[in-house]
Amino acid sequence: MNENIIEEKVDIQKLKSLDKKYYLHPTTSIHQQQENGPTVIFKEGQGIYLTDVYDDVYIDGLSSLWNVNIGHGRQEMVDAVSTQMGRLAYSSSFQGFSHDPVICLSQKIATMTPGDLNVSFFTSGGSESNETAFKLIRNYWKLKGEAERTKIIGLNRGYHGITMGATSATGIAQFQNMSTANAPDFLHAKAFQLDCELGDKSNPNYRESIRGIIEKEGADTIAAVILEPVQGAGGINIPPDGYLQAVRQLCDEYGILMIADEVITGFGRTGEMFGVNNWGVVPDVLTVAKGITSGYIQLGAVIIRETIRDELAELSSDIFFHGFTYSGHPTACAAALKNIEIVENENLVVNAKNMEAEILKGFKYLESKHPTVSKIRAIGLMGAFELFADRANEVPFEPSQMVAQKVVQECMKRKLIVRPVIFEGSNIITIAPPLITNKEQIGTIIEILSEALTVVEKELIR
Ligand code: PMP
Repeated sequence: MNENIIEEKVDIQKLKSLDKKYYLHPTTSIHQQQENGPTVIFKEGQGIYLTDVYDDVYIDGLSSLWNVNIGHGRQEMVDAVSTQMGRLAYSSSFQGFSHDPVICLSQKIATMTPGDLNVSFFTSGGSESNETAFKLIRNYWKLKGEAERTKIIGLNRGYHGITMGATSATGIAQFQNMSTANAPDFLHAKAFQLDCELGDKSNPNYRESIRGIIEKEGADTIAAVILEPVQGAGGINIPPDGYLQAVRQLCDEYGILMIADEVITGFGRTGEMFGVNNWGVVPDVLTVAKGITSGYIQLGAVIIRETIRDELAELSSDIFFHGFTYSGHPTACAAALKNIEIVENENLVVNAKNMEAEILKGFKYLESKHPTVSKIRAIGLMGAFELFADRANEVPFEPSQMVAQKVVQECMKRKLIVRPVIFEGSNIITIAPPLITNKEQIGTIIEILSEALTVVEKELIR
């Protein structure tokens, strides 16, 4: 049936009804999909653009899911993947088996990451990477005779994925409320409490800070702290300068491991190869996915310090009982190697850094023209602004007004894809276009955002 649909003239109505009947979408209202069918059906991608089945061309303003960093339709990727598939599409990495793409990729990553983050374990995505980090770290403490170190501290508004541990580490209620019970031993601190992390106990937020939680729970029960260098799904929240350094110091002070979740920020998104480089911090464990292959094939990795691997080797000769069938998938590794080559050869990290000023300039224009816009921010090629009923006093809109969703819908009508972040009463609009995006294209994104805001603001004032 599939082949008929693709090879014969595409019957769009048929595709829509088949989607409704047979496809359960991720992170989508099942009710709305059953009422309206799919939002868009894409058929092609080229550069920063996606084309739908009606031949309408959209700007992919979020790099799809913050991942298609090198842009769509790169023939080099097709060739690299096809060559590897022809040679060795898949082989296992269990029992110590190996192959050249995984060895080359592990070595390549070691040359890119800061400090002695030189040893990689591979997964198929971000959730699996974080899940692996939690298990590996708990195993590490157990082998070191500190089995009571089980607790993981995350930040509110942090996002770490949708498997049990990763959801439990996530600090966004909507994800946690999905099921009736989450995994034990995950705690959440208020994000970005720099003063508290530096030891200011007089701050009213002290008890909710990472330091406050460590002192309350007892440092010898804490396995790790996990945080994104820049929060992505939580609304593109950039920590104040000194914050990551303070968390690093805090972890060192209490002998706790620090995990940087670089699933979005890794491989250039923030204008540095890794987000932590913006603040010169070296975590103990760094998790990546998305930008490692620009989404051409699914791949994630957990990169650990060489000293941790050496300790693990020293502490036990038992099998490390953790591995996915697709850990170190040869074709995915070949895709990653080609993707990284493109990111380096085309100076895409530098481009991301340069485009930050363009995004900020555009957002300042939006702020000057639109009375609802405030709290503009950007780092590299990721940026956000917030919408308020009364921005001077930071009075939010009623959630029932669905303001951010309406802005996003108006953008969709004008063929720009951006994402709303709407929890805890906020109306945040986030953008993260591919790392190949140029100045003119940022200009077009800003123009469309402005048109969309004009329409929605008119409706609100009426
Ligand atoms: N961590 C972060 C920071 C993410 O943004 C995401 C995905 N948006 C994940 C983890 C989970 O990755 P995946 O969807 O590949 O499991």
